[in-house]
Order: sequence, then structure tokens, then C-alpha cells
Amino acid sequence: MKYNIAVVPGDGIGPEVVGEAIKVLNAIGQKYNHQFNYTTVLAGGAAIDEYGECLPEATVEACKNSDAVLLGAVGGPKWDHVPGPQRPERALLGLRKALGLYANLRPAMIFQELADASPLKPSILDGGLDILIVRELTGGIYFGEHVTESGEDGSVTAYDVEKYSDYEIQRIARTAFEMASKRNGRVTSVDKANVLDSSRLWRKIVGEMSSDYGNVELDNMYVDNAAMQLIRDPKHFDVIVTGNMFGDILSDEASQITGSIGMLPSASLGTGNPGLFEPIHGSAPDIAGKDIVNPTACILSAAMMLRYSFGMAEEADAIENAVNKVLDKGLRTADNMSEGCTCLGCTAMGDAILAEI
Ligand code: NAD
Repeated sequence: MKYNIAVVPGDGIGPEVVGEAIKVLNAIGQKYNHQFNYTTVLAGGAAIDEYGECLPEATVEACKNSDAVLLGAVGGPKWDHVPGPQRPERALLGLRKALGLYANLRPAMIFQELADASPLKPSILDGGLDILIVRELTGGIYFGEHVTESGEDGSVTAYDVEKYSDYEIQRIARTAFEMASKRNGRVTSVDKANVLDSSRLWRKIVGEMSSDYGNVELDNMYVDNAAMQLIRDPKHFDVIVTGNMFGDILSDEASQITGSIGMLPSASLGTGNPGLFEPIHGSAPDIAGKDIVNPTACILSAAMMLRYSFGMAEEADAIENAVNKVLDKGLRTADNMSEGCTCLGCTAMGDAILAEI
């Protein structure tokens, strides 16, 4: 079977990590007899340089016409002078909107061999961590009304509206329950229902949805408590489902617990549209072009693409197992280096993962 993948390498280390992910995808294609076709398009700073805009229509069209999108990272100091609406990072918002990607999936997992990189005590982590954060991506306060107004007395007032409709909550809750039913069967819904009406609706709808998933246990948690529990008892969590702003904050907190920004993938999914898969890190201009970056997050993003967009669980497992074996052998990139391990460059790390597939 043929799969068309739109590839958006982006800026900084984007092209380097995407190159390694494509090498790995090609190996999977060969091993399992799939044909992956790639269409490379520009977004972010690279598109500003070439076309004068961060998200050209041709890029949006190519992404819409694909089966999935693989993205590196966008942005960098070269485009710091560009005005707000045209900044490279705006390409991400534009793509999410154009593709209707309302569910952002961010796994926060600790690879056993990298447990030392976590800032938390080994006694709290007990050797591992595997949380999936499901963040609503196209609603809530980031997309509500934003107003700054001046009063007659010279005072200035600003407000932003947090707004959720039942159907928006239903579809993200469904994503979370489906994911949990394939994992450890637990969903924690995070809100601020003691204060916010939007959260009270959130809690009500998620509760109603849970009756369709008898095999999944649901608990509700206020966001302030969730922020504490992620540090105090992260093993409490399996799947966390939450709104856009709470998810933004909690997913960054959870990724820091793993201590390895170069290892974490993400997926953004909609309904009936291609999903977007990208590492959680940025374009790391400080280390771009030196062949020292860690390509694993992008390679694991490709694994998420196989699992969630193409239904290839075995192939995704093959990539994730290969990453584990490489770590087991003591192979590392500079960001994860520890005593007694061997330090590889970006290309060599891609090759090492490839060799295990
Ligand atoms: P960053 O994630 O690019 O880098 C943070 C730190 O982590 C840096 O020290 C970097 O060297 C290191 N790092 C990141 N990825 C790594 C990897 N794969 N291997 C080894 N080390 C890695 O975040 P930043 O420095 O805040 O942002 C740099 C640029 O990226 C900015 O222009 C920002 O707007 C953009 N950005 C883009 C995205 C995206 O495209 N999704 C996300 C975040 C930031």
C-alpha cells in the first residue's frame, strides 16, 4: 500500500532530525512492504526566505492532500525581527487550523536507561514513567475573544475569554478514552471546576462520556492539584485530558520530568484530516548544522504517525523497540550523555536505530 507523507523540515535542526526520521521510515517500508512517498514543502523561516510568508498556500494544500504530515521545527533568531502575524512559529497555528487538528497527544515517558536525567528522585519514579497528555488544541482561551480597552479615567483593562462547547469537549474526551482503553485504562480529566463555568461544563460532559467506556476509570482533578501531583506522584497518571491552556502548561511540566527534550514526540489529530507529527523541541539554533543533535524525538514522532495515522502498531513497536535497544547498548547523543556511554552524532544515532530495525 502507498502512503503520501508531506514533509515540513522547517528551520534550524528541523532538516537534520527529519532526515533521520525518513531514513528510519524507509527501513520500515522495506521491512514491512509499505511504500512511503514524500512531498517536501516549506514553512516557517525557510518559507519566509523563499516566498516572503511563513505558511504559503502551496504548503497548506500539500499537507491537506497528504495522508500525514511530518514536521521538524520552525523559528530562529534570523527571523526575530519579523512582525507578529508573520513570525515563523505562526505557521504551526496556521497548519493546525487548516487541518482541523483539535487533539494534541504528548507522551511523557522515561526510558529506563535515562532515568538519571529526570530531576525527580528515583524513589518517586520507581524506574519509569509513561503518561499521555491529551490536550484540546483549537478551543479555549487561546481562541476566545481577546480584548484590551481603555476606560474614560485612563485605566486600561484586558481580558481573554475561556469558552468551550459540548461538542468540542465530547470529541477530545472520546480521544482520551480511546487512548486509555488501549493503554492502562485510566483517564484523569483536569479542570478548574471549583471556579470556572467552562470547567463545570467540561467535567459534566467528560463524566457523561465515561459511561460509553466501562473499561476506563475516570477521575477528575483541579489543575493546581494536577500540577502538584505530576511532581509528587507522577505514576498516578495514565492519560490526562485537559483544555488548551492547562494542557499547554502541564505538558511542558511533564516533559521536564523526563529530563530529555530530545526524546519526546508528539501528534496532533483531527477527524478525517491528515495528522501532524513533530518532536516537542524547537529548532535549537544553538546546535544546528553540527551533526550533534538528538534525532530520536523526530524518529519517535514518525512511529506515532505509523501508529495513529496508518494503523501500523507492529511497525511503530519496531521503531520504539529499536530506540530502547540503542539506549540499552549505551549509545547516546550529547544531550543525554553519561559516564560509560558512547556519544554519537545525529546521523550516527539515526544509523544505530536503523540497524536495530
Ligand atoms: P528549543 O527546543 O529549540 O531548545 C531548547 C534547548 O534544548 C536548547 O539548548 C537546544 O540546544 C536543546 N535541544 C532542543 N532539541 C534538541 C535535540 N533534539 N537534541 C539535543 N538538544 C536539543 O527551544 P528554544 O531555544 O526555546 O527555541 C528555539 C527556536 O525554536 C525559537 O525560534 C522557538 O520559537 C522555536 N520553537 C519551535 C517549536 C516548534 O517548531 N514546534 C517549538 C518550540 C520552539
